[in-house]
Amino acid sequence: QAKRLGRNRSVAYRAAFDPRAGERLELIQDLHRALQQDEFELAFQLQFDHRRQPRGMEALVRWRHPERGLLGPGAFMEACEESGLVLRLGRWVLGEAARRWCQLDERGWGGLRMGVNVSALQFQEGLVADVGGAVRRCGLPPGRLELELTESVLLASPVEARTVMQELSTQGVSLAIDDFGTGYSSLAYLKELPLQRLKLDQSFVRDLGRDPGNEAISEAILGMARSLGLAVTAEGVETEAQFSWLHARGCGEFQGYLLARPEPFDAVLARLGAPG
Ligand code: C2E
Ligand code: MG
Ligand code: MG
Ligand code: MG
Repeated sequence: QAKRLGRNRSVAYRAAFDPRAGERLELIQDLHRALQQDEFELAFQLQFDHRRQPRGMEALVRWRHPERGLLGPGAFMEACEESGLVLRLGRWVLGEAARRWCQLDERGWGGLRMGVNVSALQFQEGLVADVGGAVRRCGLPPGRLELELTESVLLASPVEARTVMQELSTQGVSLAIDDFGTGYSSLAYLKELPLQRLKLDQSFVRDLGRDPGNEAISEAILGMARSLGLAVTAEGVETEAQFSWLHARGCGEFQGYLLARPEPFDAVLARLGAPG
């Protein structure tokens, strides 16, 4: 609590000198209110295998702002992290994703994975307990809950991150590295972590068929994942050409506008239909 107050205060202090920091402070106050008034919701984007069967989905937070409309994380996540509010938001996201995960199971789709993004600060505070609570509430196999963390989480505090990951892994929860290839984690370090999956960043996928350099990187990542026994989900798959390029090189799962957009939970249920 003191840490959080400290952060807000330093933002207020900067606001006296920097007009952009003033806007930031307003945004943070707005976010406080939004959390209190329950203005956040989750969109879900399905992920598919090469036969285009659904295998899981990713929960993506949205803010239904009373004046500005529906906002994506790009509009507020940085402020959320900087202010420490991401701890509260992250806890809400986890609880809401778990609630939807239970509903999936009730509809006969309990075999799908539920992916949840977690930020660096959550990793430093209370994540193991929150995740444990979410898993117990649903009573689903914990391996179907997949936490997505970015390489920045690992870089922020490598030793702690590894400890927390080991605890989560002991609980049976799956772990994926998000936006893989954009950070700086060494292969030697990756090998030591209890990981199930890499998510190939959309910046590489976007340039497949256009940029030989990015093709080489994607190919290397897919090869490395195979040797380390890690599954790969490609992000931002928008075209058939990208899909078949990736499939031909061993990519196992696909997420992107080609297959499904992030949608409200009910739309996802409608798209899924009756379990096959
Ligand atoms: P991410 O985890 O890498 O999520 C994938 C992003 O790519 C999502 O953006 C998704 O809408 C977008 N996307 C999916 N398919 C395509 C495609 O075919 N083309 C393109 N151009 N984009 C595609 P979104 O929802 O705006 O989220 C942005 C980022 O915000 C996420 O990137 C994630 O890092 C963060 N985020 C989202 N929800 C949460 C959350 O609950 N907690 C935390 N800590 N971060 C979150
Ligand atoms: Mg993600
Ligand atoms: Mg990503
Ligand atoms: Mg991303």
